[in-house]
Amino acid sequence: MTATQSDGQAARYPNLVGGAWREGGNGEWLEVRNPADRREVVGLVPAMVPADVDDAYRAAADASVAWGASSGIARGRVLLETSRLLRDRRAEIARDLTREMGKTLAEAQGEVDKSADFFEYYAGYGRFPQGEVLAHERAGARVWTVHEPVGVVLAITPWNDPLLTPARKVAPALAAGNAVLLKGASYTPIVSHHLAKALFDAGLPKGVLATVTGSTSVIGDALVEHEALKAVSFTGSNEVGDHLRQQLAGRSVKLLAELGGKNAAVVLADADLDAAVAAISGAGFAQAGQRCTATSRLIVDRKVAAELLDRLAAAASALVVGPGLDPGTVVGPLVADEQQRVVAEYVAGVPGAVKVLAGGEIPPDPALSHGSYYAPTLLGSVSADMAVWREEIFGPVIAAMEIEGLDEAIDVVNGSVYGLAAGVYTSSLDAADRFAREVNVGQVAINLPTSGWDVHMPFGGFKASGSGHKEQGAEALDFYTRVKTVASLGGR
Ligand code: NAP
Repeated sequence: MTATQSDGQAARYPNLVGGAWREGGNGEWLEVRNPADRREVVGLVPAMVPADVDDAYRAAADASVAWGASSGIARGRVLLETSRLLRDRRAEIARDLTREMGKTLAEAQGEVDKSADFFEYYAGYGRFPQGEVLAHERAGARVWTVHEPVGVVLAITPWNDPLLTPARKVAPALAAGNAVLLKGASYTPIVSHHLAKALFDAGLPKGVLATVTGSTSVIGDALVEHEALKAVSFTGSNEVGDHLRQQLAGRSVKLLAELGGKNAAVVLADADLDAAVAAISGAGFAQAGQRCTATSRLIVDRKVAAELLDRLAAAASALVVGPGLDPGTVVGPLVADEQQRVVAEYVAGVPGAVKVLAGGEIPPDPALSHGSYYAPTLLGSVSADMAVWREEIFGPVIAAMEIEGLDEAIDVVNGSVYGLAAGVYTSSLDAADRFAREVNVGQVAINLPTSGWDVHMPFGGFKASGSGHKEQGAEALDFYTRVKTVASLGGR
C-alpha cells in the first residue's frame, strides 16, 4: 500500500520520486477536501519543496537514457499493463476521483475507462513506423529519419479531468521514450497518485515517472527552470499558459499549451430540436460545465429560438444536482467554493436585459449547504459585449443569443478570442459543410456535442485556446519526439 491511513486519520498519498514513495522534504502535508461536503478531508499529499523537485528531475534525467534507448515494443507492454491495472482498479479510482473533484461516479468511471484507453492506444506505438526513408541525389547513398524522445517532459494538468488529462500526456510521452514529471492540480492530486501507482505496478523502471505536489508559489519556478527540462505539456488557464510562455522564453524547451474555451453550439432553423436539446444540455451541464469543450455559448436561429430555449430550460431545471456519489445525481458540485463564487458572480453581474431562463442560483437545499453547488443555468437575450458571452466561466452556465441564418451564426462563432470547439445542428449537408470549413476552431461537431473526442482523434484548439500542437492520436507524438535525419553512403 502506498496510501496510508490509521483510524480517524486522513489517508496520506506520497509522491513517486526516483522509484520510491516519499513525503515532501519539509515533512508537511496538504489537505484535499471533498467539494460535495467541504468538511470532509479526502486525503493528504506532500507539500514538496524545490529540493524535492530537483531530486525528481535528476532521477528522471538519469532514467530517461535507458528508457529512451529501450525497445518501443517493450515500453508498450508496460503501458498495456497499466491500462489493464487502471481497468481493474476502476471502482476505487473512480470513487476517489468523485471525492476529490466532485463529478458524478458515472462520469468518473467513464474517465477511468477513457484514461485506460489512452494507455492501450499508445501501447501500440512501438510497432508504428519510426521514421521514413528518403531519396539522396548521390547514387548508393540513403537517407532516413528517426523519431527520438526529447528527454524529460513536464506535464502540468488542471483539476477538471484529473486522470484523463494526465493520461493524455503521460501515455504518448512514455511511449515515445521520455521520462515525465507529472504536476497535477492541487484540488485533485490523489488521482495522479493512483495513475503513478498503476505505472509503478506495471513495471515502469524507477525514475521514469515522478509525481509532484505542492504549492506553485513554492515549487513553480523549480519546476520550470530546471536544466533537465526539455518539453512542457500544459493544460490549464490562459493566465498560467502565458506565464509559462514568458518563463520559457529564450530557452530551447518545447511548450504545448491547451488553454481556455468559449465553445459555441449553433442551432439552425432546420435542426432536429429534440436531438439538439439533449446534446446541448449534456455538453453544457455534464461535469457541472467544467469541461474545456463544454458548450457555453448557444447561437440559435430566431425562427426556432423560443421553442428551443423553452425546452432547454425545462431540461436544465430537471437535472438533479447533488453529491457525485449519490446514484440519482446528474450534476455534481463545482470543484471548490472559489469556483462556485466565480460562477455566482458572473451570473449575478449580468445586465437587466438578460433573462434567467433556468437556474441562476446556488441551490437553496440545506442538504447541499456544505458543498460547492450551482444550479444548471440558462441565460437568454445575451449580447456579444457581455462578460458571460466573452469570458470563460467554467461552470454550468449556457448563454444564448438569437441570430438569423448561417452567415451570422458563423460570424458570431468566430467573434470569440477562443477557438477550441464549435458545433452546428442542422439537417442541411451544405450548411454543415460550410460551417466546418469556415469556423475558426480546432474541433468541429455536426449534430454532435462539442465535447467528447476519443483518444485517437487529434485534439486541440486554435487562437487563444491552444499553442498549435495537437494532443491525442498519432499527431500527439510530434510533440513528444524530435526528428533526426541521417544521410549515409554506407560503410566504406
Ligand atoms: P490553472 O489555474 O491554469 O492550473 C492548471 C495547472 O497549472 C495546475 O496544476 C496548477 O497548479 C498549475 N500552475 C498554476 N500556476 C503555475 C505556475 N506558476 N507554474 C507551474 N504550474 C502552475 O487551470 P485550472 O483552474 O486548474 O483549470 C481550468 C482551466 O483549464 C480552464 O481555463 C480550462 O479551459 C482549461 N482547460 C483546458 C483544456 C483544453 O484541452 N484546452 C482542458 C481542460 C481544462 P495548482 O493547482 O497547484 O495551482
